[in-house]
Amino acid sequence: MSEFPTQARVVIIGGGAVGASSLYHLCKAGWTDCVLLEKNELTAGSTWHAAGNVPTFSSSWSIMNMQRYSAELYRGLGAVVDYPMNYNVTGSVRLGHSRERLQEFQRVVGMGRYQGMDLNILSPDEIKRVYPFVETHDLTGALHDPYDGDIDPAQLTQALAKGARQMGARIERFCPATGVRREGDEWVVSTPKGDIRCEIVVNAAGYYAREVGKWFGRDLPMAVMSHQYMLFDTIPELEKWTHEVGHKLPLLRDVDSSYYLRQEKHGFNLGPYEMGCKAHWVTRDDPFPEDFSFQLFPDDLERLEWYINDAMARVPLLASAGLSKVINGPIPYTPDGNPLIGPMPGVPNAFEACVFTFGICQAGGAGKVLAEWVTEGATEWDMWSCDPRRFTGFEDEGYCVKKAIEVYGHEYAMHFPHHAWPEGRDKKLSAVHARTKAAGAVYAPYNGWERAVWYARPGDDTSEDAQRTWDRKGPWFDAVREEAQAVRDAAGILDLPGFSRFVLKGAGAAEWLARQITGKVPNVGRLGLAYFADDKGRIVTEMSVARIAEDEMVLITAATAQAHDGEWLRRHLEPGLALTDHTTEWSTQILTGPKSRAILAEVSDADLTKGWLTHQMARIVGAEVWLCRVSFAGELGWEIHSKVADTESVWNAVMRAGKGHGLRPFGMFALNSLRVEKGYRAWKGDLSTDYTILQGGLDRFVDWAKPSFRGKAALEAERQRGVTKRFCTLVIEAGDQDPPYMSTIWHQGRVVGELTSGYYGHRTEKVIGLGMLKAEVNVPGTRVEVEIFGTRYPATVMEDAPLWDARNERIRA
Ligand SMILES: Cc1cc2nc3c(=O)[nH]c(=O)nc-3n(C[C@H](O)[C@H](O)[C@H](O)COP(=O)(O)OP(=O)(O)OC[C@H]3O[C@@H](n4cnc5c(N)ncnc54)[C@H](O)[C@@H]3O)c2cc1C
Repeated sequence: MSEFPTQARVVIIGGGAVGASSLYHLCKAGWTDCVLLEKNELTAGSTWHAAGNVPTFSSSWSIMNMQRYSAELYRGLGAVVDYPMNYNVTGSVRLGHSRERLQEFQRVVGMGRYQGMDLNILSPDEIKRVYPFVETHDLTGALHDPYDGDIDPAQLTQALAKGARQMGARIERFCPATGVRREGDEWVVSTPKGDIRCEIVVNAAGYYAREVGKWFGRDLPMAVMSHQYMLFDTIPELEKWTHEVGHKLPLLRDVDSSYYLRQEKHGFNLGPYEMGCKAHWVTRDDPFPEDFSFQLFPDDLERLEWYINDAMARVPLLASAGLSKVINGPIPYTPDGNPLIGPMPGVPNAFEACVFTFGICQAGGAGKVLAEWVTEGATEWDMWSCDPRRFTGFEDEGYCVKKAIEVYGHEYAMHFPHHAWPEGRDKKLSAVHARTKAAGAVYAPYNGWERAVWYARPGDDTSEDAQRTWDRKGPWFDAVREEAQAVRDAAGILDLPGFSRFVLKGAGAAEWLARQITGKVPNVGRLGLAYFADDKGRIVTEMSVARIAEDEMVLITAATAQAHDGEWLRRHLEPGLALTDHTTEWSTQILTGPKSRAILAEVSDADLTKGWLTHQMARIVGAEVWLCRVSFAGELGWEIHSKVADTESVWNAVMRAGKGHGLRPFGMFALNSLRVEKGYRAWKGDLSTDYTILQGGLDRFVDWAKPSFRGKAALEAERQRGVTKRFCTLVIEAGDQDPPYMSTIWHQGRVVGELTSGYYGHRTEKVIGLGMLKAEVNVPGTRVEVEIFGTRYPATVMEDAPLWDARNERIRA
């Protein structure tokens, strides 16, 4: 073996499946000067004891993409690197106990088809053909995933490691990283064998990731859970059946009972995600261990009893087998259950690929994503679902533990569009929270901020259970309609705490901003929407820019975009410019509707004749407010920005004045309804790096005359080539459900596009879809179909103009 490497381009800390895949993919991208450090033997963390299930199923488009890619990679990997592996593609059967579950399956079938996979739904009778030993009397159907299977996680890791070594990478086993320091433009990673100087470091330390993150000043949002599976002895009947048919049973997931059951040789492997689960290493008497390599927690069967009994009733064959072994290992969780993959926020040339809950089935895709981040600074697919910047620092340990327990216990749960999970709530409250609560607000968290989603009227059902439906009409529906109608006919007020807010100052600030955005920087006293593109012309983010002075701008952006946008701006900021975050100092209310001017006139000294897209300082009951003449609801209106200390008195004054004008508080559901009618895009739905600025139909926000801006060359080239797929607005003759994200659009038997938003417009009384459609079909009046939970509904392609107030007369009034 050659000498210990003292220099490398990239050092990866952690040799589990994910670290090995990251190394493999970096090498594949041509970056072979990489070293992976593993404190013990490869796989010593969570990887060695993982069950190795490789599902493709996900209700998230990007996670499904990652898992689909993994499964494809694993099918050929053994041959590519000459390392044969046990990878059994058995397929799987996911049982459904309810109508809602089958709807979820139908949606995933649609997404899978769009990603090139042929998943299908089985009726209860058909289930038996695929899985003869299962009780089906109480089932509504099942999802059959022919691509599902299981892989030996250690062999997978070794194969990836072998492939990386063959391409030139180094792997140092039994060589822990013990610290990092920054020297000039380099990182120096310390190990007992010596220092390694490198350009880039990757934290792939699995459940140790928080410890490694601390060296970079990071406090990673994560908790470690214990997860168990049980192995059962050989069952002669199963052995006989396997010999007869010549293959194993597909993997069975009873997702409503929350476990999987897999044939393991001629017995079973039963793995529940149980409700009474346990977080580890969070109390003083259970400190985080220095080293837990190849170790397990003691068996804890009591927690699993209900699941064992349920599985035995479901597959009675299981009852005939003895339990032979229990594996209880550490498994890391972020608060939303998705891993961290991407640039380390605030730290130069450092990346995260850690905190994987499904790191075996995701390792392949994760390695690809990580390598793209490192080598290209951007990923092929929009990977916001895994971006470390989706967490913004409020996620303390208590929060992380509560959310990890909640996510673990609901690992297979359905995520309904009007449902908010109850744990980790009330982290950040608006100054008028008590007021909105008294008015009947039902809340959901946005970057930890509790925002009203709708206002329940006396007698409305606000129970969590009532929110668990895909149907458009739940207990909120009539109340939301009244809220939207109030905005249309009189006025509504939306409390919007936690709007992310940056101030940009310094000589040359406007010029610098002009180079960052595709469009024009507004004149002093005016504001406008600004779009930021990446070098490929893809949509990075959208912000409202208000020009305060020649070289002073306020940039306002979504609550959830706080860390993302802050990081993007700082990364590109030039010396001499100052960017400061004022998110927590201010709060915002949207006052909108035809009576909003009259209401404001009663309480403020503002010049209310100033037109659309202007801003001004004014006073409301003595408090200084900043009024911006815009409305995401698409009516006459102002955003009222006030210092948090003044927000309550401002709210009270506006509410008092509004009494005589029919003012009513409204929530985020109504806002969503109102904004789709205006064709206003939502970030990380309609606006993502999956689309370019031109595909997004944002041409009017591009100032081609500017000498340069980020993404200009790519956009010019695209304009010359012709835009093949473009933003569209559809009116859909839908059934009882609105189309979820990534519902496919069909035309003459072909999929021709997808929806990125779908919601009911209460002013237009239509189901509206915003999405992307192939250019040749994107012609007003074209009849298409939208697949919603497995059924195709007729739809019409509309003009490229808002469905409500197409000429913006109401907003300009
Ligand atoms: C019982 C059980 C069953 C599971 N079943 C499945 C399944 O069926 N399918 C699935 O997809 N997932 C499953 N998982 C989850 C899966 O095991 C993990 O998500 C996956 O192994 C994570 O891989 P990783 O590479 O991110 O982390 P790890 O495998 O934990 O690797 C991290 C590595 O970093 C090393 N390291 C840490 N600190 C340092 C340092 N300072 N210097 C050098 N090296 C360091 C560690 O030694 C370790 O080897 C299961 C988990 C459990 C507990």
